[in-house]
Amino acid sequence: MKNPIDAIVLAATGLSVVVVLSGDNPGGPAFAAGQNATEPLSRTYRVTRADDVEFQKIEPFKVFDNLYYVGPGYVSVWLLTTPDGNILFDTAQEPYVDSVIANIRKMGVDPKTIKYIILSHGHLDHFGGAARIQEASGARVAAAEEDWKMIEQVGSRPGRGGAPAPRVPKRDMVVKEGDTLTLGGQALTFHLTPGHTPGVVTTEGITVYDGGKPYRAIVWGGAGYRGGLTEAEQSVQSANKVAQIQGVQVNLQIHSWAEDTGYPGGGVLERGLMLKSRKPGDPHPFVDPATFTQWVKKSQDNAARAVQQEKQKAGR
Ligand SMILES: [Zn+2]
Repeated sequence: MKNPIDAIVLAATGLSVVVVLSGDNPGGPAFAAGQNATEPLSRTYRVTRADDVEFQKIEPFKVFDNLYYVGPGYVSVWLLTTPDGNILFDTAQEPYVDSVIANIRKMGVDPKTIKYIILSHGHLDHFGGAARIQEASGARVAAAEEDWKMIEQVGSRPGRGGAPAPRVPKRDMVVKEGDTLTLGGQALTFHLTPGHTPGVVTTEGITVYDGGKPYRAIVWGGAGYRGGLTEAEQSVQSANKVAQIQGVQVNLQIHSWAEDTGYPGGGVLERGLMLKSRKPGDPHPFVDPATFTQWVKKSQDNAARAVQQEKQKAGR
């Protein structure tokens, strides 16, 4: 395709250098401390105050030169900026969408500069804001075929407690295995990593910059297994696929907490606090390839165990 802004192409492309955006560091996260001195933020936002809407509306924070956390406390929304327009990973859901849009603005970014919204998978907490953010931005919305079907189903049924059906984005870009997206020096590659849902999208090849120094980041679009032998087997294959992605230094988690037992060394908010108190010369708390490798291995083990359990259940 001729226009790099709309270049989702099947060929893999190499990384190239992007112009590092300047801008003031707006400071660290302004989210509240844990429920008590011993409870990690991950648990507070995931469990203890999961339903406290105002508490969940946290201040956005800059994580890298070109990457911002703009979501509520329990589910991630990542804003990746480039000189040619911006990319949003996931959208959160109501009643948080106004807060997400406000957070984008607080980071000095006009929502109209968002060119793409990449949906990790077809669960409402991740795609529920996509329709409104698409309207506010004019962005293209990308998801896998199977999860576009899930999104369409959610949009055709009443919501919880007989509420009107949630607004959902119209089917737009359909991501296939190995598709790439180039924009403003970013060269992203998408993988289908089903299991958590039938059409999980994992994005690799994201380049984030810390004081101009590049690091390779990933959005693993959903690792947790939610029942069923087929799904368990898919999650084994998907974890194996992620394990083959080389050189991941930064894990952009789709929730501030990680699946099941938390993310070793802290989830997004714990690391956000570390970032806030970072001294010049300290390592960046989100650059942690060892923990990512460990987490992928654990996910492979969990998925393999799930297959065994499903087989036992089925008496096979
Ligand atoms: Zn999910």
